Amino acid sequence: MHYISTRASSGNAPERKRFCEILLEGLAPDGGLYLPEYYPQVSDATLTQWRGLSYAELAFEVLSLYIDDIPAADLKAICDKTYTEEVFGTQEIVPLRPLESGLYLEALSNGPTLAFKDMAMQLLGNLFEYELARRGEELNILGATSGDTGSAAEYAMRGKKGVRVFMTSPAGRMSPFQQAQMFSLKDENIHNIAIEGVFDDCQDIVKAVSNDLAFKRQYKIGTVNSINWARLMAQVVYYFAGYFQATKSNAEKVSFTVPSGNFGNVCAGHVARSMGLPIDKLVVATNENDVLDEFFRTGIYRVRTSADTHETSSPSMDISKASNFERFVFDLLGRDGGKTRSLFHDQIASQGSFELGADPAFAMAAERYGFVSGKSTHADRLATIRDTYQRFGTMIDTHTADGVKVAREHVQPGVPMIVLETALPIKFAATIEEALGQPPARPARFEGIEALPKRVKLLPADAAVIKRYIAENVH
Ligand SMILES: *Cc1c(COP(=O)(O)O)cnc(C)c1O
Repeated sequence: MHYISTRASSGNAPERKRFCEILLEGLAPDGGLYLPEYYPQVSDATLTQWRGLSYAELAFEVLSLYIDDIPAADLKAICDKTYTEEVFGTQEIVPLRPLESGLYLEALSNGPTLAFKDMAMQLLGNLFEYELARRGEELNILGATSGDTGSAAEYAMRGKKGVRVFMTSPAGRMSPFQQAQMFSLKDENIHNIAIEGVFDDCQDIVKAVSNDLAFKRQYKIGTVNSINWARLMAQVVYYFAGYFQATKSNAEKVSFTVPSGNFGNVCAGHVARSMGLPIDKLVVATNENDVLDEFFRTGIYRVRTSADTHETSSPSMDISKASNFERFVFDLLGRDGGKTRSLFHDQIASQGSFELGADPAFAMAAERYGFVSGKSTHADRLATIRDTYQRFGTMIDTHTADGVKVAREHVQPGVPMIVLETALPIKFAATIEEALGQPPARPARFEGIEALPKRVKLLPADAAVIKRYIAENVH
């Protein structure tokens, strides 16, 4: 399997890379995102075979279709080591729980940091360690987080050989639980940097440091953000696992609802569907930051300004643009890299938006790919958390609540609707208390973490200072 950029020009033959080459890279050199040259097709017979597999075995089968530069035995060992009951809490890894008839929750949040990002990040940690050892190289991961990504990355990379993490976050802006999760880590290769500023300042610093190519090369700076293909690929697996749990035969279809921000999670659903998994609808659920809902309703993709990006009670979906969206649009445009470049590079830069709605093919194409969407507000979130708790005794987090609210608007008779549970309620306790008048349950291993000593360095929002800090701590 080879990988190409979403902005590859069709004129000259596009540059093709193997999996391990793009594993440690972020964006493609032309500014595009990597995608496999084609989506491998999964036959009915293969689906039947995969039904009986454990999660780790299933992961190995799916990943094998995309990775041919790691020996099979090694890849198998990596999958076995990653997806264990010990790390993810159950033998199923992603168990399905029923709510009302026809609606299910797929539990993706029982990993080390209690959000679905662990599903991919845990694999990434093991792939990085493997590939860096093979090359005899080191990597210093520089990231920016408003909560879930940073902790998932740190728990995946802690203690890994050849990897250091420098994670910036806006000082005092994450929930107390999220701060405690990250700052209580004692591993020497994990560096928490609290920035005197907001999340955008953290992102700007990461960008500024990454744009300093000499510094980047000298200090082997890398990233683990959601545009990394390996993360997306790892997420494809749980669409298959959810499908097998909700159906008895491959003649049945299911739909998925995905609480969405950067479009990474639901893009993995698009890949699974493109491989032949019988998915009927992919329902994109957004909060008040409705960039994606607007696109699927109107065909207009409009990037928001910082002033127009709302702080909500489902903060991991508070985005101004959806960084993985370019992958879907590339497919939507028949994989025309030139056209994708002109939309995401030229039109976004000059006017902050583009419109596909006028294109008569748009509605048909989005429909052909199964996409629909909906939006949820703070009041919807509270009502959904309350209703789900009262009727089923199930506590859901704020992001999952956005999903459940929108899913209910798209349920069709005879088609199971699976809502992806993207975090556990304990991560967003204040809103749960607001909805239910009682605090969410806390897994035993997180008892008292807010009281543990914190390892964090407070620094000003200044890229030069951050560079100096990295240089001092790389040895
Ligand atoms: C990251 C995150 C999301 C959004 O996922 P995308 O892949 O960015 O669309 C939703 N919910 C939670 C809890 C998250 O951490």
